[in-house]
Amino acid sequence: MGKPTGFLEFTRELPEKRKKEERVKDYNEIEKTFSTELAEKQAARCMNCGVPFCHNGCPLGNIIPEFNDAVYAQDWALAYEILASTNNFPEFTGRICPAPCESSCVLGINKPPVTIEAIERYIIETAFEKGYVQPNLPKFRTGKKVAVIGSGPAGLAAAAQLNKAGHLVTVFERADAVGGLLRYGIPDFKLDKKVIDRRVEVMEAEGITFKTNANVGVNVRTKALLEEFDAVVLSGGSTVARDLPIPGRNLKGIYPAMEFLSQQNKRVANRPVTVDHRGVNYENGELLATGKNVIVIGGGDTGSDCVGTSNRHGANSVTQIELMPMPPKERAESTPWPHWPMMLRTSTSHEEGCNRHWAIQTKEFVGDENGNLKAIKLVDLEWKVENGRSIFVEVAGSEREIPCELALLAMGFLHPQQEGMLNELGVDYDERGNVKAQNYQTNNAKVFAAGDMRRGQSLVVWAISEGREAARAVDEYLMGHSELEAKAVSMLNAQKFDFA
Ligand SMILES: Cc1cc2nc3c(=O)[nH]c(=O)nc-3n(C[C@H](O)[C@H](O)[C@H](O)COP(=O)(O)OP(=O)(O)OC[C@H]3O[C@@H](n4cnc5c(N)ncnc54)[C@H](O)[C@@H]3O)c2cc1C
Ligand code: SF4
Repeated sequence: MGKPTGFLEFTRELPEKRKKEERVKDYNEIEKTFSTELAEKQAARCMNCGVPFCHNGCPLGNIIPEFNDAVYAQDWALAYEILASTNNFPEFTGRICPAPCESSCVLGINKPPVTIEAIERYIIETAFEKGYVQPNLPKFRTGKKVAVIGSGPAGLAAAAQLNKAGHLVTVFERADAVGGLLRYGIPDFKLDKKVIDRRVEVMEAEGITFKTNANVGVNVRTKALLEEFDAVVLSGGSTVARDLPIPGRNLKGIYPAMEFLSQQNKRVANRPVTVDHRGVNYENGELLATGKNVIVIGGGDTGSDCVGTSNRHGANSVTQIELMPMPPKERAESTPWPHWPMMLRTSTSHEEGCNRHWAIQTKEFVGDENGNLKAIKLVDLEWKVENGRSIFVEVAGSEREIPCELALLAMGFLHPQQEGMLNELGVDYDERGNVKAQNYQTNNAKVFAAGDMRRGQSLVVWAISEGREAARAVDEYLMGHSELEAKAVSMLNAQKFDFA
């Protein structure tokens, strides 16, 4: 423990954010990295608890008190070594993780918790700056070849770990760039894509091969992979979005959130905006919110990303609506410490301007004579509990239309795309339609699955955790044993947090 009285002397401070008026004019990252002085001060708040609940809260089992201590002692190399031992990509989680570790920090019982996520970002950025992050080549090669399909955080983590174990890894990605939703999905103002490029360069230098524009089941034969590789890891994400099949759905102006968000990522990257991962033009063309009344349907974080992007486009108005009732402003009684709290969250995008409404149902999309969306018909809902179940009824007389020329559907994802690669492999699915895998192994012994494709839509930190665990299972399958790190599983980190 660096400073025994740190938690009494210092209050929680967060990294500086760029001013709202300035940041809505561009797509640069909003949050800055801690200064050295602030990182040390915040690390000094850690109490080095006898039972550090933060470990349990983190799906990766990050060794948090130890790296906090090293930051306070200004031993950046040690802090990096500790952090990198459980997390392959702290530069991603240090920026966009909702930080379940902080929700379970012991200090959080009666004071604001330690700023673990910001400290993590500080450690990894310092490590890159000081040159500690170097390609780490395996000491020997096993001669085994593994194909990883999908280059999101799960695929990247699996590839890094399998390469470390000495296997020759090829990552197949159908998009034109590596990163999965980190690249095409999460806005640049939350995660600068140079952060992904920097990591991919290190991984390439370590001997991992990346093949982009390689769509397995389309321009790469699925069966050929089974013949060519000793094992296959499926990490293709959860890509089938939930739709809203109500009257007027076929009008022009109603689009899935992902189409809107990934186009903006491409615009920032100067890549062709209207071409999807198959190289096919989007039938809806270029989507812009400029001058429009935008309604984002879905109150989650994907919706919040649409809000931030719409404001940057210069929308006339931005409204986000949600079917469920408004969550409590403070931790709900049903989710006491150290659980992930059910409560109202206000993102940086919400801070920039947005009307937020809860307990609302969309009844109909209303069009003009040319088939363009011009309004949405809504109704208020009253939620109540009946026979132990939450149900809703429409509030009589509350039906109304509000002007809307762009509606973005952000209601989450159902399961991975089954037609094509997955059906050709003949993998079993669970009751939700995700790839079924016991200890990450599917019904085909040489095929493994990790990330959103296996657990359903989730979080980057879970994807990294699953990629690491799947890599260990593959290594055991190929070699009979594995020396890759195993994660301690706890009751808390077995909780599931969704990202809708
Ligand atoms: C808009 C949005 C914002 C989000 N923001 C956050 C956030 O701030 N924090 C957070 O923790 N989580 C966030 N999430 C959730 C998080 O991004 C995902 O949980 C995570 O990326 C899942 O990782 P993955 O590797 O399993 O899959 P993905 O990241 O989805 O990557 C899968 C990759 O596989 C590729 N692929 C699929 N099929 C094939 C095939 N047949 N051949 C070749 N390649 C294929 C896809 O092109 C894709 O690149 C967000 C999700 C969305 C949609
Ligand atoms: S629970 Fe909080 S105070 Fe305790 S060791 Fe973890 S980060 Fe430090």
